[in-house]
Amino acid sequence: MHKKYPIQLNERIHLIDGFDLGVAERTGTYVINEEELTIIDPGPSPSVKHVKIGLEALGFSLDQVKYIIVTHVHLDHSGGAGLLIQDCPNATVVVHPRGARHLANPERLVAGAKLVYGERFSKLFEPIISIPADRLLVKDEGDTLEIGRTCTLKFLDTPGHAKHHFSIFDPISNGIFSGDTVGIRYEQLIRDDVNLFLPSTSPNQFDPDAMRRAIDRMSEMNLHAIYFGHYGMTDAPHKALQQVSEWLDAFMKEAENVVAEQKGHDVLAQRLFNRVREYLRKSGIPDDHEVYFLIEVDMQVSAMGMIDFLKK
Ligand SMILES: [Zn+2]
Repeated sequence: MHKKYPIQLNERIHLIDGFDLGVAERTGTYVINEEELTIIDPGPSPSVKHVKIGLEALGFSLDQVKYIIVTHVHLDHSGGAGLLIQDCPNATVVVHPRGARHLANPERLVAGAKLVYGERFSKLFEPIISIPADRLLVKDEGDTLEIGRTCTLKFLDTPGHAKHHFSIFDPISNGIFSGDTVGIRYEQLIRDDVNLFLPSTSPNQFDPDAMRRAIDRMSEMNLHAIYFGHYGMTDAPHKALQQVSEWLDAFMKEAENVVAEQKGHDVLAQRLFNRVREYLRKSGIPDDHEVYFLIEVDMQVSAMGMIDFLKK
């Protein structure tokens, strides 16, 4: 059964499932219970109702929400911020310097997402509501945000997946909210005892070198936890980062071959999918496992991003 209620990850942090793409355990919203109640990544607008139900189940009212932090402005992470903030009168949205203007004026963001998602756009993301500039707070590399007497979050500029992406360090759990910078975690496989972490190389700001730098930087931090945008927490960050780094190398090699052969992103997506399936078969995962719906979607989007990068 799908877990309906917020999942407690540690004493202060819960995870709410937003059922993005209509799928359980795909995109999550984190709730940090500090004096200033803080939410990280509200998800797309259709997830906002789940976030509200989750907050209520945790015993919080919407006027307690003080900060809504978005790791980056891709709509599956930030698209619901405008809708949510309408009902959170005391909340401020915290965003990367390159993301702020897109939250205030989402037209370009919407146009970009329509190119990637086509006719599925409306069902996945609407409504997109702009956020008044006076409710936005910009945080850059090294900036901090005090959310409790003993908790000051720190922001790290972490491009690679997108240029408008920061990650948020939580000193209490020695953990980092990594958005999509250091990959995707497939919760669906955890109950089969399989750890799969893949890079997310979406168009059109994917930068493999920046992504490698972010992976290296986080590796050197000796973290105890990584909280992934997709989806959930790992308490073995080193292994996760190692795996993402290996897949990134393998993906890029495959992408270079496909470009050299003058083939398109569909061919690349199929090859990436086959490689991942090969890995999962070796781990005993059957070909009809539910995770393949997500892997197919992710390989399509990642293939587009890599080809886009290599053709620049
Ligand atoms: Zn994402």
